[in-house]
Amino acid sequence: MSDNVEKYIKRKVHKGMSTKISQKFIDAGLEKIRACINCGTCTGSCPSGRRTAYRTRSAIRKALTGDESVLEDIDIWMCSTCYYCYERCPRDIPVTDMIIKLRNIAVEEGFILDSHFTLASDIFYATGHGVPANDPEAHKQWRALRESYGLPPLPPTVHSYPEAVKECQTLMNEVGFRALLDNAAKLKAKRKAEAEKIAKEKTEEEKK
Ligand code: SF4
Ligand code: SF4
Repeated sequence: MSDNVEKYIKRKVHKGMSTKISQKFIDAGLEKIRACINCGTCTGSCPSGRRTAYRTRSAIRKALTGDESVLEDIDIWMCSTCYYCYERCPRDIPVTDMIIKLRNIAVEEGFILDSHFTLASDIFYATGHGVPANDPEAHKQWRALRESYGLPPLPPTVHSYPEAVKECQTLMNEVGFRALLDNAAKLKAKRKAEAEKIAKEKTEEEKK
């Protein structure tokens, strides 16, 4: 980090911007977020932003100012982690790492997308593979492709050693991956129940 950026970060005005989210960035060693000058170069460079409603600067700004609505914003999942914004940021802010951290915080707070939960829990945790290839019918083209290159039909992973799935799950348990997913599911269900309760009360109120 350059001396100038370091001095800028330490200025009181930016210290005053500490919030729950920005504090988590600082704890993760991503304190450079405080040096953002809101120039928009990241947004202007972002290939995902050209195709979707995702705006990099807006997400960074919300994170910096503690606007927690950013955690439930589906747009943060539109980043393709291409690192173009990071390369071009005049403040050398690790924008991509910020977005990844923002996603991590979102999952910790239970804002995980259903499709990501299914992939993480029902596929990755259950099978040890992000992209399983061992279904006799559904995945037969992958096995044929491997064989066409002279490879064994299944890779030397849990597909070839199914007894290792338990070991993978033990590792995932030890690093807190399962607990993270269970907590996210619990928070999500709680929010859903609260929203349904409010909707029901509103309907009953309207009937009176
Ligand atoms: S390019 Fe860097 S300084 Fe400019 S808005 Fe984005 S994060 Fe902030
Ligand atoms: S890393 Fe993400 S936010 Fe940055 S330019 Fe690429 S897609 Fe956009």
